Amino acid sequence: MNISSSKQLSNGISIPRLGLGVYKVPDDQVYDTVSNALDLGYRHIDTASFYGNEEGVGKAVRNSGIPREDIFVTSKVWNDDHGYEKALKAFEQSMEKLGFDYLDLFLIHWPVPEVFPDTWKALEETNKSEHVRAIGVSNFLDHHLEELSKTASEMPVIDQIELHPKLLQTSTVAYCREHNIAVESWSPLGRAKYLDDPLLVKMAIKYNKSVAQLIIRWHLENDFIVIPKSTNASRQKENADVFDFEIATEDMNFMNKMNEDFRVGSHPNTIKRF
Ligand code: NDP
Repeated sequence: MNISSSKQLSNGISIPRLGLGVYKVPDDQVYDTVSNALDLGYRHIDTASFYGNEEGVGKAVRNSGIPREDIFVTSKVWNDDHGYEKALKAFEQSMEKLGFDYLDLFLIHWPVPEVFPDTWKALEETNKSEHVRAIGVSNFLDHHLEELSKTASEMPVIDQIELHPKLLQTSTVAYCREHNIAVESWSPLGRAKYLDDPLLVKMAIKYNKSVAQLIIRWHLENDFIVIPKSTNASRQKENADVFDFEIATEDMNFMNKMNEDFRVGSHPNTIKRF
């Protein structure tokens, strides 16, 4: 595995296993943040209309000198753009901001109750065109996926969920594995809220790595796609320097039992209809 290693999704397209998340990176900073990451070898950027930085992301990708087809870009439809027509319009707006001919992955950001099946129809429609290579969801728990399966013509290729050692989401991950839906971890570092955990610190020292590197490697070894965010050049480099070690089975087993249901973001069941 290396920084450009990818995972094949159920529709045959490949996604780099490591990407850069850009949530909370202001539009005027995102250009430098993404440009630096691309210089370091990152080839996968995760944005969303909600982040308000699609223009800067698009510009950094377009000005990078790297062929567009070598960079994987994800965007998402926001909660107040649910519904068939609104989601199609939101897609057009995202594309205009990004300045791309096509998007690699388009996701429903949150499972807004009652309306997400219609929104999914819009995503299926975009996926029939040459403008979207893959469609998926975010923050869908197993019961949301099960509900979606009743009306969907095709199932999502990815579910992007909050996932890190203290939030293991085992039933949703099991559902995804059973149904060939790739799992992508957001806030993969638990938003840096427990990088000082003594047990993780002790384990990281053993591998001569930082806790952030240990956790990113844990995602990769669990076959999760991982999108840590950093605006800091040296931390971006650190987060990509995870391909020269392996976590021993007993340490993987230990980390796979650290769950505390500790969330840094919202619980998907609390999302309300606008
Ligand atoms: P992360 O778990 O990636 O943590 C980001 C925080 O960790 C930042 O404060 C960053 O600070 C810090 N950090 C990064 N690397 C290191 C390091 N090596 N050592 C110490 N601190 C570090 O949280 P995010 O919430 O940003 O999640 C990542 C991405 O997931 C988002 O950017 C977004 O793309 C996606 N996401 C998706 C959601 C969804 O609903 N689908 C919801 C939330 C996020 P600094 O920048 O200063 O380095």
